[in-house]
Amino acid sequence: MQTGTCENREVAPISRNTVLLLSAAALAAAAIYLHVSLSTPAERQAFAEAAALPSPYTLPSAELIRAQALFRTEAALYFIGSLWGILQLVLLLALKVPSRIQGLVERTSSSRWGQCFFFVFLFFGLNMLLNAPLRLYGHHIGLVYGLSVQGWASWALDWFKSFLLAWIVGGLLVMVLFWIIRRSPQRWWFWFWIPTMAAVLFGVYLSPILVDPLFNKFEPLQSVNPALVRQLERVAAQCGVDLPPARMFYMRASQKVTGMNAYVTGFGPSKRLVLWDTTVAQATPDELSGVFGHELGHYALHHIELGVLFAAAALLLGFFAGQRITWYLLRRFGARWGVRSQQDWACLAVLMLVLNFLSFFSAPVENAFSRAIEHDADIYGQEAIHGIVADPQGSTVAGFQRLGESSLEDPTMHLFAEFWMFSHPAIGLRASFAAVYNPWHEGLHPKYFHER
Ligand SMILES: [Zn+2]
Repeated sequence: MQTGTCENREVAPISRNTVLLLSAAALAAAAIYLHVSLSTPAERQAFAEAAALPSPYTLPSAELIRAQALFRTEAALYFIGSLWGILQLVLLLALKVPSRIQGLVERTSSSRWGQCFFFVFLFFGLNMLLNAPLRLYGHHIGLVYGLSVQGWASWALDWFKSFLLAWIVGGLLVMVLFWIIRRSPQRWWFWFWIPTMAAVLFGVYLSPILVDPLFNKFEPLQSVNPALVRQLERVAAQCGVDLPPARMFYMRASQKVTGMNAYVTGFGPSKRLVLWDTTVAQATPDELSGVFGHELGHYALHHIELGVLFAAAALLLGFFAGQRITWYLLRRFGARWGVRSQQDWACLAVLMLVLNFLSFFSAPVENAFSRAIEHDADIYGQEAIHGIVADPQGSTVAGFQRLGESSLEDPTMHLFAEFWMFSHPAIGLRASFAAVYNPWHEGLHPKYFHER
């Protein structure tokens, strides 16, 4: 039962250790960002040349009109969805819904485990219902524009599986969080960061093995397309990356979507390359080599590890700020919302409100980091296929053209959207850069392949 203590009402002064820890996190994030975004002379020259030329990525006029309409809808869905995610929590708190759910679960069960999982089930379920209209509309848009071919029943099943996963993983983390809050009301932002990072590492490690197969079918690429594996092995050998065929997977994405994709995921024994069947079916062998080179770049340049470090710094800063804002909100509105202290289950709604708010406004920073990594992988991919494919610039540009057509990306979009929403640079910018990037030109040097 709750003690009703007001420990959150006293704001502890920030200790020297806290300042040091947060400064270290901020410095780490800045250093990682700088490390991935340091540019070479060849890169700067290509940027300057690309800016002066029209982008090679274009769409025929009928497709362009559809792409522009799709872009407007997707941008609206993103911003409305994010703001609705925040607003619905404010409304629920104002109506004291979280505190009523808390009352219900405390009457139903005396065990903290039972209360926690029941609370998380009801609260996440409520969020899922409130988000349903936008989610349904989003899938409808995917079908209308031909980006998705997934039937409604299969889509609903995937949604249900995601909910169960969120409930189980979320329930465990919430249990740990409240256990820590009760033991360290002042420093829980730091102590909770440790199990959260463990969960992130477990997630990165286990997702490819346990979670991804719940949603899609994976097969060894070797058993589907051995000729492609041989060609990819040549690119891997050129990069000096050890990626045996056993680590190359083929995903049957065409049962659900029409767009193309490839990615590197996992680490240690679960690290792997995944190529979507849509990509293998649509791209030429030279373009596939470029895609593979890009993915090997993520592998060779340790982007998964960098991403985990970046997340560690961001979460540490986010949890600290989150705790302070939560305290402020509880002091100011706690009585009105029926949330007595940060130990109340209902405080989860306040924490989610604060974390949703912080994550919405930090999306541009997170995406800038991701785009810097993706840009480096683009450079790596283009350099990796030098000497293997006849025209690295041409085939990379052709690959981006195909990627843009398959995802119906608007080449004329406002770059504010890229700044806020995009984890990858806009395809038009990627194609512009690829068309003129030539580090083998007189007096220039490749960024990653110095010896050749
Ligand atoms: Zn990438």
